[in-house]
Amino acid sequence: MQVKYLEDLSTLVSLAKRRGFVFQSSEIYGGLNSCWDYGPLGAPFKFKVKMLWWKAMTRRNDIVGLDAAILMHPMVWKASGHVDGFSDPLVDCKKCKNRFRQDTAVVNGKVTCPKCESTEVTEPRNFNLMFETYMGPVKDEAAVVYLRPETAQGIFVNFENVATSMRKKIPFGIAQIGKSFRNEITPGNFTFRTREFEQMEMQYFVKPGTDADWFETWRQTRWDFYKACGIRENKLRWHKHEKLAHYARAAFDVEYEFPFGWSELEGIHNRSDFDLSQHQKFSGKKLEYFDEANKEKYIPYVIETAVGCDRLALAILCDVYREEKVGGADGEGDGDTRIVMGFPPELAPIEIAVLPLSKKPPLQELGMKIRDELAKDHDVDYDETASIGKRYRRQDEIGTPLCVTVDFESLEDRKVTVRHRDKMTQDRVYIDQLKSYIQDKLKNF
Ligand code: ATP
Repeated sequence: MQVKYLEDLSTLVSLAKRRGFVFQSSEIYGGLNSCWDYGPLGAPFKFKVKMLWWKAMTRRNDIVGLDAAILMHPMVWKASGHVDGFSDPLVDCKKCKNRFRQDTAVVNGKVTCPKCESTEVTEPRNFNLMFETYMGPVKDEAAVVYLRPETAQGIFVNFENVATSMRKKIPFGIAQIGKSFRNEITPGNFTFRTREFEQMEMQYFVKPGTDADWFETWRQTRWDFYKACGIRENKLRWHKHEKLAHYARAAFDVEYEFPFGWSELEGIHNRSDFDLSQHQKFSGKKLEYFDEANKEKYIPYVIETAVGCDRLALAILCDVYREEKVGGADGEGDGDTRIVMGFPPELAPIEIAVLPLSKKPPLQELGMKIRDELAKDHDVDYDETASIGKRYRRQDEIGTPLCVTVDFESLEDRKVTVRHRDKMTQDRVYIDQLKSYIQDKLKNF
């Protein structure tokens, strides 16, 4: 069978809109640049991506979860270095007035406008990426608070609370999923770089001296996670940071080959004891850990794994998209092309579609009964419009792993036809055995 994978992002953007995965924010007003809304299929898909990560982290005995507030004490961002240093170099093109990031626009050693290719640009100015807002009714300097630019600081400032309340012994980690905001100079590539996005971060606290080993362990663990997401391994690679932040001991990115090129998906960092030391200094509260077994006190080192949920969701959408020429031997279609979103079943927004062959009441009734029963355990769609071939294609395009077809014979023999998305094979299954059949098929898809 001839298979074609995604070649350009615009194909995915239009599928995402057409099939209810992702819409432009405030579209009826002309849209809001770099903001996107997840639609009726995108929302459950993204939720499942989060659940996969959350389970991979918090079902371990050594990691617990957290859900910190977006707004935090302004001193947090002083201590973390964001107020003084979280900025990108901003330049303007003197010719076409385009505004862009200097560090991402160097061609042959020269800063070059990505729009008009002119090299006549202004001197760089540091532009802080944090969004500011005001707390309370008075809009003055004293009321400034920030929308958090990362979730990590919520974890650091709660280190003591978590360790004490959960009686956690080092090594242990804290995992969190939540919104972050960055006033990016050049957002773009659909949901890849946006100004409002969701992060999934985990900070793993270790004894100094064991950090290099833990760093390697986490690199391996995270690589295995991406394989479990169903991403093709040849589309993933490591990028080692040669230039490190002053406090960092090591930094690697997991990169994915998007249609627009290799780009960062996740950062894995050895952050030393920088963050806890800074918060200890700025807050005046001791953030040392007391190791009872060895009667030692120390500030733990941190291994961080940080991935954007939207970015991971985009990588999966890109990776599972395929066009297949079907027809002949498989018994479906006659040389036409079908689009398939080949989600692993646990990430598919709809797991099963129930499709009665006709709208006649007895089939409708049986179809709805099956739908309601399956919906107790699964995400189920019900569709009784158009030909069955068209309905299969619709389900393929949104990645539904299994379709259950109810026909007139079903009323007699109490059997339905279950059709497999990838193999396009069909099995006749007794209705009273359907649940266990489906569970088995989804597990061994
Ligand atoms: P970049 O170099 O792409 O700006 P970063 O190195 O600053 O990213 P981190 O601060 O390490 O990113 O954030 C961790 C993860 O959060 C990134 O790997 C990415 O998946 C996600 N992320 C960061 N910024 C954005 C954004 N503007 N939109 C969507 N996801 C983002």
